[in-house]
This record gives sequence, C-alpha cells and structure tokens, in this order.
Amino acid sequence: MSFAKLGLSEALSKAVADLGYQKPTSIQTKAIPVILQGQDLIAAAQTGTGKTASFVLPILEKLQRGKTQKKKRVRALILVPTRELAIQVAEKVKEYGQFTELTSLAMYGGVDEKAQKQALIDGVDVLVATPGRLLDMYGQRAVYFEEIEMLVLDEADRMLDMGFIESINKIIDRVPTDAQCLLFSATLSHKVRDLAKTAVNDPYEISIAANQASKSNIEQWLITVDKDMKSALLSHLIKENQWDQALIFIETKHGAAKLVSQLEKREIAAEAFHSGRSQEVRTRLLEDFKNGKIKYLVATGVAARGIDIEELSRVVNYDLPFPADEYVHRIGRTGRANASGEAISFVSKDNFKNLCMIESRLGHLIERREVEGFQPRKPVPISILNYVPKHKRQKEEQENQDK
Ligand code: ADP
Ligand code: MG
Repeated sequence: MSFAKLGLSEALSKAVADLGYQKPTSIQTKAIPVILQGQDLIAAAQTGTGKTASFVLPILEKLQRGKTQKKKRVRALILVPTRELAIQVAEKVKEYGQFTELTSLAMYGGVDEKAQKQALIDGVDVLVATPGRLLDMYGQRAVYFEEIEMLVLDEADRMLDMGFIESINKIIDRVPTDAQCLLFSATLSHKVRDLAKTAVNDPYEISIAANQASKSNIEQWLITVDKDMKSALLSHLIKENQWDQALIFIETKHGAAKLVSQLEKREIAAEAFHSGRSQEVRTRLLEDFKNGKIKYLVATGVAARGIDIEELSRVVNYDLPFPADEYVHRIGRTGRANASGEAISFVSKDNFKNLCMIESRLGHLIERREVEGFQPRKPVPISILNYVPKHKRQKEEQENQDK
C-alpha cells in the first residue's frame, strides 16, 4: 500500500516520502479513504500510531481541491488539548503541506494574542487550536466559524480529562452543521462516545487494537537520558521508588561488572550475571534472584536468554537491545502469568536508530518520560515509524530496479 493509492495527490505523497515515511500505518490506511469520501469518523488507536497524518493528509487533499480562504475565516479546524500539541500538529500540517499553497496557524494560550490575530486577518486554511484560546478569539471577533468545512477533535479523551467539555460543545454549536467532523482518541471511553454523539453524524468507526507484540499487562516506557548519566539514573530510580526487584539488561560483560560496582558505591547491592561467571555461580545467582535474596541482577542479553522467572515485576533495558525482536522478548519476561509488570528503557541520543527500529517493530511509539534532574543535554529525536535502515533501503531499491 502506498500513500498515492489511498487517493492522495503527488504534492502530498512527495511530502511524506521526503519525511522518510515508506508506507502508511494501519490507522492511516483505514482513515484516509473514509475521510476523503466525506464521511464523519470516530477513530481510536494507541498513541504513536500516526493519527496526525491520518487526518491532516486528507484534510489537505480536500482543501487543496477547493477555493482559497476569506478574511478571518478558517476552512479546517483542529482542536487539541495542549499548547505543545498545537505547535506539534501545526508543524506537521506545514511539513505535509509543504508542496501545497495552503496556509496554517497554531493558536494557543499563554502567549500574546497579537501575532495570532494578525495571522488570522487574511484567513487561514487550517487552524490548530486549543479550545480556551479559540473561544477567546472568537469572542473578540478575530475569527469566524461559518466557513469551516472540517472539524477535528484530536486526543478527545485527553481534552475531556482536562475539563474542556463545555468549551468544546460551545465550539461545536457554532460550527456549520454540515461540516465534516472527525474524532480521534487513544481510547473510546463512555465519555468520549457521549461527546461523539453531539459532534459526529452517523460516523464511520475505526478502532485499531493495541499491537499484539506488546502484551497489555506490561507497562512500558522509556526514559531519555545522556549516556554518562545512566548509572546515576538507575541508582536514583531504585532508591526513589524502592524497587523490590529488577532484571537489568546491559550489553557487555565488562559493562555489567562496572555497573555493579557503581551501584555498590551508592550502597545498592547487585550481582552481575554473564557468561564470564561459572555455570555453578549463575545457577546460584538465579536461585537467589528468584527467592529474593538478590534484588537487582545485571545481566547481559545473551546470558539472560534462558532466564525464566514467574512474576518478574520489572525489567530495565540499561542498554537498548538489538535487534528489535530482542526487545519484544525481553519485555515479555515481565508480567508473566497475568501478573503486571513494567519495562523501562534508558535511551540516549546515540540509540536513536535502534529506537526507530524497535518502535517500528512494535508499530507504535513507546511512551517517553523524563526524570527530574536527568533530562538529557542531547535530546533524542522522535522516531519515524516503518523505519528501514539505509543499507536495507538501498538493497530494496536495487532489487526493485532489477525486477
Ligand atoms: P499519534 O497521534 O497517533 O500519537 P503521531 O501522529 O504523533 O502519532 O505520529 C507518531 C510519529 O510517527 C511521528 O513522529 C510521525 O512523524 C511518525 N509517522 C506517522 N506516520 C508515519 C508513517 N506512515 N511512516 C513513518 N512514520 C510515520
Ligand atoms: Mg496524536
């Protein structure tokens, strides 16, 4: 499946190809044709599955075919819960629309209104806004809704959690009734469905189940951190959260020994588990880890392959595993037998490509958390999904040419 086959024009397919998107994600494959047909839609898919493009691309496609905007009017309105998201989604609108003539604007509170008002004077095609600031501007007659052809409620569940229901309803009441309305959410709770009833008409419904590769009783997230701060971060987490137990994966034997001594300096007793230790020692370590005598086991991936512990509550990827399948195996060690577990990965900037491959394998992004005092000096970029490493891409292109 390609973006062009979904009904998107050259200008848009080229823009996504330039961003490195190889093919549409599931939600994009399902939502884009429905939206192009003019249907109302409610869609649920996990965070990081590419929902933004699944509504922005067809919106741009449809607006591109239509006429240009009028003063202080907008043609597509995307409501989002936070300022960060407004900026992020508006950025995507710009990127996806870079080969079109369409205009866009992010509107959010906490900053001076002047620039946003000014930008609205000539009208914009796509407005991305938080509900509060938008109503404020509407009240000041800086923006009018009667030309709105398409309305999107993005992250509907979060907007409701944040108490925006009244503002959203006010906005919906003022948008033309024949506007196409799209609701996107990570979850479809009763509250979200109630909201959908007031907003969307006879909607088409898409729900993408969470990827089977990640078992649902495992909570997984990653912490972005500089490489040289990882051991301090680990000590901090162990102490702060009083972890009962952790299986910590690390790349090398040497690294395992070093980490154990670093932890000891911070008064945390841990043991290294790797192929440099005798089988006898390893058997004993495993016994002691299982019965709780050892709380923290630092293991190399290879040595840990055979470890099978019922109800392991936590694994830590001190180093990200390679290849991506190894990640899935590792996190599968926690939360066995329906016990819940957590899988935490430390990710620094130089792990970026590896992270892309893991997230592509999972089919979604892993939730990111930062830990106070350990924010990285070198930020880790956001992955692209369906990531194919350069050497493989070249090989595929070669093969396609050979055909
Ligand atoms: P969601 O809204 O579902 O949480 P986003 O729309 O923010 O997810 O997308 C998550 C990430 O995936 C973004 O970095 C985006 O650039 C990337 N992405 C989206 N669609 C694709 C695709 N078809 N191929 C590769 N990467 C994609
Ligand atoms: Mg989103």
